Amino acid sequence: MSIAIALPEGMRTRNRPTLPEALLRAGSPRESSNPYHNALEQLDIAAQYLELDPGMHEILKHPQRELTVHFPVKREDGSTQVFTGYRVQHNIARGPSKGGIRYSPLTDIDEVRALAMWMTWKCAIVNIPFGGAKGGVVCDPKTLSNSELERLTRRYASEISIVIGPTSDIPAPDMGTNAQTMAWIMDTYSMTQGHTVPAVVTGKPVAVGGSEGRNDATGRGIVFITREAIRESGLDLRGLRVAIQGFGNVGGVAARLFAEAGAKVVAVSDANGGLYNADGLDIAALRDCTNRDGTLTTHGGGDTIGTRELLELDVDVLVPAATENQITAENADRIKAPIIIEGANGPTTPAADRMLHERGVFLVPDVLANAGGVVVSYFEWVQDLQFFFWQEEEVNAKMEAIMVRAYRDVRTMAKRENVDMRLAAHLIGVKRVADASTLRGIYP
Ligand code: NAD
Repeated sequence: MSIAIALPEGMRTRNRPTLPEALLRAGSPRESSNPYHNALEQLDIAAQYLELDPGMHEILKHPQRELTVHFPVKREDGSTQVFTGYRVQHNIARGPSKGGIRYSPLTDIDEVRALAMWMTWKCAIVNIPFGGAKGGVVCDPKTLSNSELERLTRRYASEISIVIGPTSDIPAPDMGTNAQTMAWIMDTYSMTQGHTVPAVVTGKPVAVGGSEGRNDATGRGIVFITREAIRESGLDLRGLRVAIQGFGNVGGVAARLFAEAGAKVVAVSDANGGLYNADGLDIAALRDCTNRDGTLTTHGGGDTIGTRELLELDVDVLVPAATENQITAENADRIKAPIIIEGANGPTTPAADRMLHERGVFLVPDVLANAGGVVVSYFEWVQDLQFFFWQEEEVNAKMEAIMVRAYRDVRTMAKRENVDMRLAAHLIGVKRVADASTLRGIYP
């Protein structure tokens, strides 16, 4: 049985003016596939709305520090390959910088800059004492053996060890990296210090100072945020029809937790394609299939669909949890889900944002929706610094409290200013960072 969602008046954004007249006169956002251009465009909108001092706006546009490294790795066949990696620290006004490391053949400095800037706003929105950073290595981890991955990771960690540290910049997993990657980085950094420094990275295995609950945290946070968003329509998760793009740490965990909560996950996809089953997919079987074959598409439990096609399904909630630029000006008009919860970073371009908003689609942005991961990373860092570890129930309950409070702060701001949830989130995040920067002043 499907649920027809009727969004209550406050959540319906159609035909409501959302931006100041001056901004509307500035015309439609430019469509760009460059995530940094899109992040800057989002910052510009928030800065104009906040009437931010032009000097402060200029500071926030620029990452504070960028490191590019080129380093050699010995391949299994005895040859040497040179890889390129980055670490970008966008802002440290509110505390040490925090952000994941991405291994992807498509990553570049502008993607890492955008992801670092989004981390700054995200940490401020959920009000944890971190700035924003991100890292990346241009590589396809699927084409590397385990020992090649270890050598690559250790050399990259060594190259960026001049800018990371438990009180300065703390990496975590992102696309293409995982708990094992973090264990190698922690070990490499610790070797340079002569003692074990677990707080230098988060998302580690529990056996080496990781936190209970960190692996599931981003997906769990997505489910908490979805529950809050649909509650306003008088709905709960039971029977909710959900489509999820991406079946990794974020999408795969969210799919499992949605199913456990009684929702019907009718479609999921990975980079190879997707599956649709109107009666709900067997998520545990899809996970087994992915562990065995490296893709869910070989599982026969549903109709084969394209990963872009998944975005346009008639579902109650759509969760893009793969990568940037999936919902663009090209397909935004064909999105049928009335609610979008962004699991990935930057899945919606500013031009698509405007189109969805005009059509009354309720979108909870990345900087709020996927913040559960960094919240539990913050808990992991605190536990590592204190060498005192918490039970999973405590971790989950503390994360839930922070996510619910942040959702309500953003929702209240959206209603008060009559703006969409992305702008409301950015108004809170950018203002907190600007206020901290103003209090600190400009050195010297
Ligand atoms: P992951 O590497 O674990 O999984 C990525 C998944 O997306 C895989 O299933 C992959 O096959 C799929 N994918 C890649 N390109 C695709 C495409 N074009 N279409 C459909 N599927 C595609 O990565 P992850 O950690 O799950 O991260 C996913 C997104 O969530 C990224 O945007 C990341 O920045 C963001 N994010 C991750 C975390 C975290 O804690 N891991 C936290 C916040 C945000």
